Amino acid sequence: MHTSTLLGAALQLCALLGIFAGAAAKIELTSRSNIIVQPQTSAQAAEITRNSGCIGLTAASWALVFYPGSEVYHYENQEFWSLTEILAPSCVFRPTNAQEVGNAVKILQTTNTKFAVRGGGHMGIAGANNINDGVLMVLSNITTFRLSQDQTVLSVGPSYKWGDVYGLLQPSGLAVQGGRLSPIGVPGLLLGGGISFYGNERGFACDDVVNYEIILADGSVQDANKSFNPDLYFALKGGSSNFGIITRFDIETFPGLKVWAGVYSISAEYITAFLEAIANYSMNAKDPKSAVIPAVVAGDPNIAAVILFYNSDTVGFPDDLLPFTNIPSISSTLAFKTLQQFSDETAVVVVPDLNDLFASGTIRVTSYQQALTGINLIYNIFFDRIPLLYSQMPKENITIIEIDWEPITSLWLKASAAKGPNALGLDPTQIYICYAQVVEWTGSQYNRIVYDWAAENEKTITDATQEAGIYDPFHYMGDSAGFQIPGFYNGYGLGNGAKLEAISRKYDPKRVFQNLMPGGFKLAHSEG
Ligand SMILES: Cc1cc2nc3c(=O)[nH]c(=O)nc-3n(C[C@H](O)[C@H](O)[C@H](O)COP(=O)(O)OP(=O)(O)OC[C@H]3O[C@@H](n4cnc5c(N)ncnc54)[C@H](O)[C@@H]3O)c2cc1C
Repeated sequence: MHTSTLLGAALQLCALLGIFAGAAAKIELTSRSNIIVQPQTSAQAAEITRNSGCIGLTAASWALVFYPGSEVYHYENQEFWSLTEILAPSCVFRPTNAQEVGNAVKILQTTNTKFAVRGGGHMGIAGANNINDGVLMVLSNITTFRLSQDQTVLSVGPSYKWGDVYGLLQPSGLAVQGGRLSPIGVPGLLLGGGISFYGNERGFACDDVVNYEIILADGSVQDANKSFNPDLYFALKGGSSNFGIITRFDIETFPGLKVWAGVYSISAEYITAFLEAIANYSMNAKDPKSAVIPAVVAGDPNIAAVILFYNSDTVGFPDDLLPFTNIPSISSTLAFKTLQQFSDETAVVVVPDLNDLFASGTIRVTSYQQALTGINLIYNIFFDRIPLLYSQMPKENITIIEIDWEPITSLWLKASAAKGPNALGLDPTQIYICYAQVVEWTGSQYNRIVYDWAAENEKTITDATQEAGIYDPFHYMGDSAGFQIPGFYNGYGLGNGAKLEAISRKYDPKRVFQNLMPGGFKLAHSEG
C-alpha cells in the first residue's frame, strides 16, 4: 500500500475509532513502521512524552492504541467490576490476536514500560488489572471461539465472560466449568483456579484446561499442555499472571442439559440450623452433581441465603441438599433452567458503580464438629465486628455486607486429583472450607476504613481458627483482597509457592511479568 493511501486510511480509521478525539493529535506517517505522533495540547504532549511504550505501540500498530479523550479509551477504562479498579492508564492497547500481544510484550520491554492486563475485569483490587501512567492491555478483541471436531474441547479467547460462553455452547448441548455468575471473565477465573458449579464432579475449573496458548516474556507464542512445557502447564493452573499472557484456553466440554438450581433464602431464626447445614454438607456431600454457595447477609435482621445447584434436568430436591431444603424458606427460585439462565439470575448481585472488597480465608477440618466450630467462629467474629465498621462510616453507604462459604469437599478434591496436579496443591485426603468476606459501599473516601476493618477481621479469624487447630494458610485467589497478596503463594499446598517461583524464573528470566507488569497476585510481591 502506498504511503498516501495508508495515511488516508489511517486518518479515516483514527476518526472512526475516535483516536485523539477532541483536540486531535496529528499523526504523520512516513512509512507503516514510522509514525510520528504530534500532540496538539500540552496535556497530550506530557502524556505522550511520558509514555514511550504508548509511542512504541502506536508506531507498530497505531489502530490498536487509544488515548485519553477517545471513546474507545473511555469505554475500555470503565469495563471493570468495581470502582476501586478504575485508574488512569496513559493509553489502552487492544490487540486482536496472539502475535500482536507478542509484539507488544517486546515493545514494552524495549521501552521499559509498565503495563497491566485486563480480561473480564472482575478482580476488584486496585492495580491488579489496570495501571496509572502505563499501558492498559485489554483482551476484549481476542475472540477465538471454536469447538474441536469431536466437540470435546472448546478453544476460547480471553475476551469472553462466562455467561456468553454458556449461551454460545447451549445450542450444542454442551457446558464447561466456569464462573457461577455470568459477568465474570474467562481468563482471570481460570488462572486463579476456578470454582464452578461442577467442582464436585470435575474439580477446579483449571483442571479442565487441556492446553494454554501463552505469550512468553520473549514475545513468543507457545503452547503449554501435558506433553509440551508441562511445568508451565502446571503453573498456569492457579498461578495467575506470573508467567505470560494467555491468548487461548482449550477446555474440556461435557453435556450441558438443564440444571435444577436457584437461590433459597432463610430467615434469621433458622441461622443456627443454616450454619449446621453448611457443616453437614461440607463433611457429608456424596453426590457429585450437587453444589452450594451458602451466605449470611447482614441486615436487620440478618438473612441466610444459599445458592443450590444440582446437575440434573429431571431430579430436584436431591438428598445431598436436604440439610438446606429441610429448613423453611422465605423465598426460593429453585427450578429447572439452563446454565446461562441461572448464571444470569445469580448475576443480579453484580451492581455497577460501587466500591467492592472480597477477603478470603480457609479452615481445614476432619469432623462435623470441627467444621461447625470453624463456621461458627467465622460467623461470630465477622458479625460481632460489624458495629465497629458502622461506627467509622455512615451505615447508609454500605450496600452489602455478607460472609460466604465455599466447601471444597472430599468429592471435589478427589475429582481434581484425578485430573493431575494443579498449582493450588490442596490435599485430596482433607476437607477445606474457604470463606469470603464481602463488602460493597459508596464513597471511595471510605475505602481505607473498609480494607483495614476486613484485614483486622481476617487476623482475628486466623488467630481463632489457629487456636482451634483448624486454620489453613490457603486462600482462594478469586475471593482474596489486595492486602492478602504478600505471602499469598506460601499458602498453596505442597510447597508449590517455591515451585511456581522456579518455573517463573525459567520462563521469564528478565522478570518482565513481575516488574513491568506488577499488578495482581505476583510471586515477587508474595514473599510475605
Ligand atoms: C461478583 C463476582 C463473582 C465471582 N464468582 C466467582 C465464581 O463463581 N468462581 C470463581 O472461581 N471465581 C469467582 N469470582 C472471582 C473471579 O474468578 C476473579 O475475580 C477473576 O480474576 C475474574 O476474572 P476476570 O478475567 O474477570 O479478571 P481480570 O480482573 O480481568 O483479571 C484477573 C487477573 O488476571 C490477569 N489476567 C487477566 N487475563 C489474563 C490473561 N489472558 N493472561 C494473563 N493474565 C491475565 C489480570 O492482569 C489480573 O491480575 C467472582 C468475582 C466476582 C467479583
